Amino acid sequence: MLFTLKYINMPLTKEEKKLYQKQYREKNKEKLREKNKVYREKNREKNQDKMKEYNKRYYQNNKEKIKENNKEKKKEYREKNKERIKEYQKQYREKNKEKLREKDKERNKEWREKNKERSKEWREKNKERIREYGRQHQKKYRENNIEKIKDYNQTEQCKKNNRINGWKTRGLKVDDYNITYDRWLNSKNCELCGKEYKSRKDKQMEHNHTTGHFRSICCCSCNRKIRYTDERFRKVMEELNK
Ligand SMILES: [Zn+2]
Repeated sequence: MLFTLKYINMPLTKEEKKLYQKQYREKNKEKLREKNKVYREKNREKNQDKMKEYNKRYYQNNKEKIKENNKEKKKEYREKNKERIKEYQKQYREKNKEKLREKDKERNKEWREKNKERSKEWREKNKERIREYGRQHQKKYRENNIEKIKDYNQTEQCKKNNRINGWKTRGLKVDDYNITYDRWLNSKNCELCGKEYKSRKDKQMEHNHTTGHFRSICCCSCNRKIRYTDERFRKVMEELNK
């Protein structure tokens, strides 16, 4: 009796069997999954090649679906871990500062090399705009760094740069600006008459006014005399060449 009861609902036709199996799988999803897992673990070594083959085939057949799925998953992950990713990127940049800078430099150089002509043309075309941008940038920098600039202006380096730039704008030609600056800084007496300078303005850079070549550091009086002699000499030479 029991025997018959138990099997009374047994599927008989193919369709019934299929349906029954489907229902069974549906009902025992978790259990089957677990069983499957255990089986896979147990036979991992044995079925490695088979699994590989299967995975490959599965991938080939479901390429688009997998790709789409991965995209979706990545997007979700990024959305979920925004802060973490940001933090990680920040740390990475911090850690690899030098490397990234080198890479950037390399990339910029390549780009410039590739677009040399184009860049030149662009710069030529936008000359005024670039100049204006520079001016604005400088102005902003000065406004934002008043204290820093004030401090810098007090440094020896700044005084030196200003002095040398002054010589350059006046057309003075000097072989070695560093050596000449030191010479100027340490000069307490006129190099020509030996007298002590009367004031700061009394210390002058004596130079050839035609060629701009620097000759000596001297007092105002010596400088004037030499200039007069130079002038006389020039006039005499002019007369002689007539
Ligand atoms: Zn002198």
